[in-house]
This record gives sequence, structure tokens and C-alpha cells, in this order.
Amino acid sequence: MSVRIRSDLDELPAYVAGRTVPGSIKLASNEVPGGPLPSVVDAIANAAYEVHRYPDMAATELVATLSERLEVATERIAVGCGSVALCQQIVQATCGPGDEVVFPWRSFEAYPILTRVAGAEEVRVPLTGEHALDLEGMLAAITPATRVIFVCTPNNPTGTSLRREDLESFLRRVPSEVVVVLDEAYREFVTDPEAPDGVELTRQWDNVVSMRTFSKAYGLAGMRVGYAVGNPEITTALRKVYIPFSVNAVAQRAAVASLGATVELERRCAEIAAERTRVRDALLELGYEVPHTQANFLWLPLGDRSGAFDEHCAAAKVVVRAFAGAGARITIGKREENDAMLDAAASFEG
Ligand SMILES: *Cc1c(COP(=O)(O)O)cnc(C)c1O
Repeated sequence: MSVRIRSDLDELPAYVAGRTVPGSIKLASNEVPGGPLPSVVDAIANAAYEVHRYPDMAATELVATLSERLEVATERIAVGCGSVALCQQIVQATCGPGDEVVFPWRSFEAYPILTRVAGAEEVRVPLTGEHALDLEGMLAAITPATRVIFVCTPNNPTGTSLRREDLESFLRRVPSEVVVVLDEAYREFVTDPEAPDGVELTRQWDNVVSMRTFSKAYGLAGMRVGYAVGNPEITTALRKVYIPFSVNAVAQRAAVASLGATVELERRCAEIAAERTRVRDALLELGYEVPHTQANFLWLPLGDRSGAFDEHCAAAKVVVRAFAGAGARITIGKREENDAMLDAAASFEG
């Protein structure tokens, strides 16, 4: 006799996290190399004194700080236990069995999982030959059953970013009752002036929600906190399905402190953007195909050679993130870490 678990979960793909190998350089999870911003560490330490109390459910201070920073009303902001939780919340709030969630593929590997957990149907739209989102294809995939479309820009794992103009023309053609999630986990690394700003777009489109995180540029991946900005109809729904107290008290303090460290953040993002260009140029020089990236990682579309590249790098004590049969995603680390990866890439004969 065993307990009865939903049988559709048997088929669910497991989320594969980037490996952490002691003694190896980790360029596998799109984390920033420098740790949390220095001024934030104190806020985290001080917050330890209050952890016998439940966190503020409404994350009042964090929401107020975001509201000021982004110049949006507090009611238009919802926080979540990482933006991955917000992605799950939006599907949960909009979808039941038979409803459809459209997303690009390959993209963030949580999308298929959270779609299926909600009992909804996944509709994957292949990327273009340039490893970018195929907006026309995504429009064509919309049916009366479509409830949510994930638009990941810059796209994880390929790094490509949409242009504002293209995204706007896409949004004009999406039915207004379909929620468009702009997953902007890497927004802070974007340097292309033509790239869209999701928060700006939410002022104009009531069915658009921008999702951002403190995990990447802000260096708080271990804290688990992200936020969504959009029409109150959407943010209210997100709050309804929020697991009570899931954004913890330390994370709230850390996020508020991070928002106060603008200068440190900007310096860090500029350094990463410069390294990204240097590393991409070096890889191109070595003969690799490397799509343009606006994120803190690069994509090598190695196809069947991805596994061999992964093993070759691991032997050189560099951990990258390979997607079998598709490619390898390499996070931009510190200069010397990137150089170690470039050495490995130079000696790869796959
Ligand atoms: C990392 C990432 C997220 C969310 O990260 P959290 O740590 O859950 O905030 C969301 N979307 C994409 C595309 C990501 O790469």
C-alpha cells in the first residue's frame, strides 16, 4: 500500500541545478561572483536578531522602497520567494486543467515544471535560428485556452534580448485577457538601449507583468526574494496564492539594503558587462558560435558536443551548465575564472 500521488507528476522533469564542485570554479548558475553587495552584509547580520518573529507578510518596507525606486504605486507590486515563485503563482492564479501556457523553448527550465504542476498544458515555441525568441511563433501559438505567455528577456540560457519595438508590436497583438509575463531576471545587466524595460511597459499594458529578482545582479540568490510589477488585478491575484510568510525577514532586509546600494550595483553590472564582451570576443576568436548576450552568461550552441564540452571543462575544474544536445551556458565570473574557462575552451576538441 502506498500513498496516492498525482500520476501526472511521474512524467515531470526534475529541475537540474548547476553543480557546485568543491575546488572547482562555478560558472553554472548565473550567480554573480563577488558575493552580496558589501553594504548589504551588515543588514543581513542585523536581521538575524529578529528571526524569532514572523516576517512582515506584506513586506511593507520592501514594497515601499520598490515603489519609490520604480515610481509605481505600492498596489502594483507583489513580492515572492524568488521570481520563480512568482512565475508559479501567476500560473496557479490563472490556470486550471486544460488551460495553456505558452513559452519559448529553450528557455528557463522552471516554465515546463510549474505549468505541469498547475495541471495546465505546456505550449513550447522553438527559438529562432539566431537563438532568440520567436515572437511571431508565440503569437501563432495562442489559442482560446491560452492564459499565460512567458517572455524571458534576456532569455535564459541563450542571453538574447528582445528589442522594445518588437516586443511592443507583439503586445499589441496579444489578446488583452492573456497575461504576458516579462521575465526580467537579468534586466540589471542589460546595456542595449533598444532593449525593453518591462516596468515601463506595465504602465501601458494591463495584461503585462514584469518579474524581477534579487538573486542575480544583487547577489542574493541564497536569500530567495523577487518582485512583480503590474496591474493591481494581477498583483492582487499573485498575493492570493502567495504562501504565507514565504519571503523571510532576513531576505526582506537584505533586499531593502540592496536597493540602497545603487552605486555598488551599477559598478558591478558594468564590470560584468565589460567581461561579457571580452569573453565573448575571445570565444569568437577561438571559432565558437556565441549569440549576442545581454545577460551575465553566454550560450554556446554546441548541439551534440555539449556533454563533451561540459566534461572537458569539468576536468579543467570549471563547472558550466550543459543542456544535453543543445548547448552550454557559461556564467560570467571573475576575470581569472573566465580566463580558466577560456583556457579550457581553447583546448576543447569536441
Ligand atoms: C534565475 C531566474 C529566475 C528566478 O530566480 P529566483 O532566484 O527564483 O528569483 C527567473 N527567471 C529566470 C529566467 C532566471 O534565470
